[in-house]
Amino acid sequence: MREVRLSSILIKGARVIDPESKLDAPRDILIKERKIARLERSIRADKARIIHARDFIVVPGLIDLHCHLRDPGRPDEETIETGSQSAIAGGFTSICCMPNTDPPVDNEGIVNYIYKEAARVGLCDVFPIGTITRARAGKELTEFGELLRAGAKGFSDDGDTVADNNVFRHALEYSRTFDVPIFEHPIDKSLAQDGLMNEGLVSTRLGVKGSPAIAEEMIVARDLMLAEYTGARLHLCHISTRGAVEQIRRARKKGVRVTCETCPQYFYFNDEVLESFDANFKVNPPIRGEGDRQAIIEGLKDGTIDCIATDHAPHCQAEKELEFANAPYGMIGFETAISLVIMELIDKQKMSWLKVIEKMTVNPARIIRERARSISPGTVACITMIAPDMKWKVTADTLKSRSKNTPLLGAELTGQVAGVIQKGTLKYSLKEG
Ligand SMILES: [Zn+2]
Ligand SMILES: [Zn+2]
Repeated sequence: MREVRLSSILIKGARVIDPESKLDAPRDILIKERKIARLERSIRADKARIIHARDFIVVPGLIDLHCHLRDPGRPDEETIETGSQSAIAGGFTSICCMPNTDPPVDNEGIVNYIYKEAARVGLCDVFPIGTITRARAGKELTEFGELLRAGAKGFSDDGDTVADNNVFRHALEYSRTFDVPIFEHPIDKSLAQDGLMNEGLVSTRLGVKGSPAIAEEMIVARDLMLAEYTGARLHLCHISTRGAVEQIRRARKKGVRVTCETCPQYFYFNDEVLESFDANFKVNPPIRGEGDRQAIIEGLKDGTIDCIATDHAPHCQAEKELEFANAPYGMIGFETAISLVIMELIDKQKMSWLKVIEKMTVNPARIIRERARSISPGTVACITMIAPDMKWKVTADTLKSRSKNTPLLGAELTGQVAGVIQKGTLKYSLKEG
């Protein structure tokens, strides 16, 4: 007699939200041999592991276009292993890691290393972004062809803008040959002046050196002009200002091939939180004023902003505990992203689940030319289960990331990832941790 195999999983009674098929309805999902075998109102299957999901929203595995895993280089802050654990706990089944590691991802050897290490860990897909310039020095372009053959999904000198206009023009032209996106970190260093927070009324009141919105908007303007001129694909990272959203909206209407992302910190917080002088609020670009925050939400609603990414940026505690002026920029973001999305966009009825999940699945997939994992029969099962009403408290112990630099430590949030199925296997379950 053949052994009874319990490799099937039956998800019962979930509200399934699938942007690809525009489905938002209660369904049962049967997963067999890594694939979604059936998707129906009611399924009975005796030999399957059953997940009772009546209180869950079930969506395709989330995709994060922008994170930092610090590997190679800073295993005390994060590794591909701890970063993958953190990502999967946040519901992400695919993540793109930025190349500002040590050494940076400017040759195929490092791309190969990232793929090998991510496969060894075996939790989520990790897609490397290669650097635009050698050693991220902003001068000489890397071998895009070589990096792409190894599996890079795009190019970026994130952490820095490519300041030299001519180098950036050539990067765009070169990327056109392969039709891959250039991911730009749009902040003019000379205007930002190492500002510690957004330049505005609050920075004036606190007497803290500010980084003005124009530092972002100037580079966005230049990049849009060069993208139009070259016909290349430009992806603008972590958009945070009203002026940037307005420019992108206009450029899009003209047919410029531009996409962009924002991060939860830019639609959830405004710069008044800096009054706490908590260095975990120190990010680059800075958390902006309330008018900018509202404009970011508008941009998400009207489709100008394609994606919600995290810019997950781990830093060790000792560095974040430096004086505010000397603390590094960045906060971790995988494990709190869905809560901030739920609390700000869903619960306040600014956007529908379908629209939000589109910005965390199909839209990022399209940008890196990966197939979005839709929830439909025949596709490989990559599924994130969300408990939208669950309250939880953020503590250093609950976070899987090796770094704990989030201003949300101690906060009670609403909405939590309950489980993640990656390629047919349950890789994360809140109950089991
Ligand atoms: Zn950046
Ligand atoms: Zn970044």
